[in-house]
Parts: sequence; structure tokens; C-alpha cells
Amino acid sequence: MTALCAQRTFFRGADGYEAARRGTVWNGILPQRFPDAIVQACDADDVVATIRYARAHGHRVGIRSGGHSWTASHLRDGGVLLDVSRLDHCDVDVDRMTARVGPGKVASDFANELDAQGLFFPSGHCEGIRLGGYLLQGGYGWNSKVLGPACESVLGLEVVTADGETLYCDPQQHADLYWAARGSGPGFFGVVTSFTLRLHRRPPVLGTCLYMYPVEVADEVFGWGRSISGEIDDRVELQILTSRNAPEAGPDVPTIAIASPVFADSEEDAAKALSILGSCPVIDRATVNVPYLPTTLANWYAAVMMKYPAGHRYSVDNMFTSASADELLPGIRTIIETLPPHPSHFVFAGWKPSADRSDMVYGVEDDVYLGLYTAWLDPADDARYGDWARSNMAAMSHLATGISLADENLAHRAGRFIAEPNLARLQQVRAAYDPDGMFHSWQAHD
Ligand SMILES: Cc1cc2nc3c(=O)[nH]c(=O)nc-3n(C[C@H](O)[C@H](O)[C@H](O)COP(=O)(O)OP(=O)(O)OC[C@H]3O[C@@H](n4cnc5c(N)ncnc54)[C@H](O)[C@@H]3O)c2cc1C
Repeated sequence: MTALCAQRTFFRGADGYEAARRGTVWNGILPQRFPDAIVQACDADDVVATIRYARAHGHRVGIRSGGHSWTASHLRDGGVLLDVSRLDHCDVDVDRMTARVGPGKVASDFANELDAQGLFFPSGHCEGIRLGGYLLQGGYGWNSKVLGPACESVLGLEVVTADGETLYCDPQQHADLYWAARGSGPGFFGVVTSFTLRLHRRPPVLGTCLYMYPVEVADEVFGWGRSISGEIDDRVELQILTSRNAPEAGPDVPTIAIASPVFADSEEDAAKALSILGSCPVIDRATVNVPYLPTTLANWYAAVMMKYPAGHRYSVDNMFTSASADELLPGIRTIIETLPPHPSHFVFAGWKPSADRSDMVYGVEDDVYLGLYTAWLDPADDARYGDWARSNMAAMSHLATGISLADENLAHRAGRFIAEPNLARLQQVRAAYDPDGMFHSWQAHD
């Protein structure tokens, strides 16, 4: 029988176990779920040894790369929790425009390192997420309307399967496993120890606009936003963000901000692509009106992270929709009226569904994405804020095409996240590679 790495294995009840368990979860809410053992793998050999150990003992396995799953989907009762965050290698091949990266590589570090070399990858919008979970679930990153969800740039993967075998999968080898890895997220049934990624040239210009509106004109802003969302240049990410002011930033009222990234060849080009965002019929009510501002990736990350401070308790939910403004507005009004304090927020984003993503299991997608992100500090407020995101999305679910696995809350609300034929095929591939169900799957589907 294969032994576990003694220094980095924490059995339940032993010294270090609780710190290791807490350390796997980014969310301030730490679910009361307790694996029998937590193994911190240092390399791919540790992964193989852990899977063989789990098989020999009949354990189920949860996998953690960056622990940024909002609901800590990696943390389950019993069995083994395999933490692969230390597998964070990163080898960039500039000539081939590819990179070989570990699942533990922090996505924002990867983006910043590429940026310094004039290269680009559609990494997520926030710091701290690691590539393992991010790429498996799809990955909505910078310039993703042009480049596709990040999993579309996955060229191949190294996977340790349920029987402890290491396979390389790509369109030619184990193509079914490759198909399944691109979009199944927490439903994937193997341990990814390395990704091969396609890199892109960094667009010469990164920019943004910034408009701010009082919520008194929410109907006009969202009605207009919905009407132009399909016309916006692919290089512009439509982001309408509503949140209450931070205590130091003014009275405790909600404000609507439109800060939309643009990726272009020249400043002129960027300003032109953004110009449609100045066409709001209530532009005269804007309290901030900046049609174009050059920016950097580092500035973007800093701005976004003001909405996701560490140490907070988070609860999120989401939906994709193609509903009209008239259909969406009643739900949007309720969201705004009940918006919890800063830094909780509501994102209304434009997306570009593709007619052909048949070479991957990903996903369910539509023209508009609504994301609700609740954040609070005091556990005594759990009952007050914990259900805000779920209940508002549940109330609008008749307008939803489905949900994204990025902000899934499947433990509390079921949702459609993979098209039905793909889901059926995925279960067949799972049965072939993990017939005994060693790997945990999506929480509500266990
Ligand atoms: C503050 C914040 C901001 C975010 N912003 C974005 C964003 O801009 N765009 C976006 O798309 N998403 C975003 N997300 C969602 C995030 O990308 C997903 O939750 C993603 O799964 C996190 O990856 P992780 O490795 O950090 O998480 P983990 O919790 O470690 O992993 C999530 C799940 O993925 C599976 N998994 C992870 N690693 C492996 C592996 N090596 N092999 C097999 N299975 C594995 C496991 O089933 C695990 O339960 C954000 C999340 C947070 C908390």
C-alpha cells in the first residue's frame, strides 16, 4: 500500500488538522464538514500516492487548488481532501505561445507575469483564484468575450485518474476526458496536475470608462443597458455594478457604476469602442462621467478587489438570461431595494454566447449575466444576509437560461449549468473513468 507524505498529512483530531482545514477555504464561512484526512501534495507523485491510498481504503476524494469555491465544494465529510495548491509550476514558451502551469498557480499572478512579457491569458477578474478550479469551471476572465471562457484556451491536461494512473489528455489522446475537463468544474473526476494553455498577445491598450448614477434612475440605466448589451463591441466588457457606498465614500445609499474594461489596438480605438456607453438617456444624471481612461491590469485588479476583501463571510448566486428589460426590471428593483451593506454588490454583465463550443462540456450561457455577491463580517448577521443572493435569484429563476459554475450555489439552490445532452454524455465519461464514484461531484448532485 502506498504511504502518505507524513509531514503534510493531517488526520482528523490530530494537531494541525483544523488549521489545515481552515486554510483550504477562502470564504470566511467555514462549513462544518470534516474530511478524515487532509493531504497537502507537493508534487504529482504525492497526488498519485494519495489517490492509491484513498482507493485502498475506500475513501472518497475532494480536491482543492485555491479554495475560492464560494461554497467550499472541495470540503466534504469523510474521506480525503487533497490540496494541490503547491503544484504551482509555470513554464512559458514564448515561441509556441503556450504555457505549462500547475493547478496551484494563482491566476492573477499568471496574468501579471504574462503582462510583463507582452502576453495575455483570460485570467479571472479577481486576485487569489488558482487556475485549477478556475479553468475547470469555464473561467470568465479579462477579454473573455473575444477569447472565450478560459477553458477554451486549455490545449491539454495531465490528470491522475481514480485508479492512480497519470494520463495526458488533449484532442488526440483521451479526448473524452479532455472534453469533460473543459467546463465540468467541481463535477470533474480526476486530479489535474498540470495544464497546457494557449497564450495570446497582450492587446496594446487597456482602458475603461466610468459612469456613476443614483439608483433613482435605475430603471432607465438598466433598461438602456439591456437594450445595448447585444450591440457592444466584443472587446468591451459591459459591467453595471450596484453597491452601497463604502462608509468613507459617502452616505449609505446604493449607487450604480459602469466601469467597463476595453482591450484595443490604440487609445483612439478603445475610446471609440467604449463610446456606446455614453449613450444612456439619463447621462445628464451621471454624477461621474468619464468616457475613457487608460488603465493597467494591476489597476484593474486593485479596483476589483475593493469589492472582495478577504476575511468576510460570502454568499453568492447567479443566472444567465436573455429576458427583456421589462421582464428583468421588477427583480432588479427588489435587488436594489434590499441590497446589503458595502461591499455586497450586484453585477449586471454582458456576455457573448457561442454557437459552437461542441468540443467542450461547458456550459450554459446567454446574453446577460446577473451575479449577486453578499459580504458581511459578523456571524451574527448570517441569518440577515446569508440568503439574499439565493432568494433573489430564485425569485427571478423563471427568466433564467441557467447558471454559471463560477458563482454556483448548488448546495442551496439547484440550477442548470450544463446542457442536457452534454450532461448525459458527461455521466457516461465519468462512469468510464471513475466507476466507483471516488471523486466528489457538484454538491447538490451527490
Ligand atoms: C473573490 C472571488 C472572485 C472570483 N472571480 C471570478 C472571476 O472573475 N471569473 C470566474 O470565472 N470565476 C471567479 N470566481 C470563481 C472561481 O473561479 C471558482 O470558484 C473556481 O472554482 C476557484 O478555483 P480555486 O482553485 O481557487 O477553487 P477550489 O475551491 O480549490 O476548487 C473548486 C473546485 O474545483 C475542483 N478542482 C480544483 N482544483 C482541481 C484539480 N487540480 N483537479 C481536479 N479538480 C479540481 C474541485 O472540485 C473543487 O471543489 C471568483 C471566486 C471568488 C471567491
